[in-house]
Amino acid sequence: MADKEFPPIHEEALNIAKAVGRVAQAAITRTKIKVSKEVQELRITICKTSCCGNYEENDGRPRCRECGCYLKYKTKLTTETCPLGLWKKEETKDGSV
Ligand code: SF4
Repeated sequence: MADKEFPPIHEEALNIAKAVGRVAQAAITRTKIKVSKEVQELRITICKTSCCGNYEENDGRPRCRECGCYLKYKTKLTTETCPLGLWKKEETKDGSV
């Protein structure tokens, strides 16, 4: 089976713009933006080991073929979530992540 293609560039750009908007919203509401190292590692492990087939590592820069995002950043942000629901957004207003 052929590897899934990354989304078209305009879709990737839109996904990045939406992510930036969510981070800005978190900053405005003083919600924690970064998850703990443990949570990020768990997310990366889920990406690497799940059967989604969307994990792609190129020159040490893992990406998700579903949304086109760079997982180093996506997994670090409380505002982000797996597009297939394999890991969730973290609610961190109380700093619990
Ligand atoms: S974010 Fe979700 S769909 Fe993308 S690689 Fe990770 S587990 Fe797979």
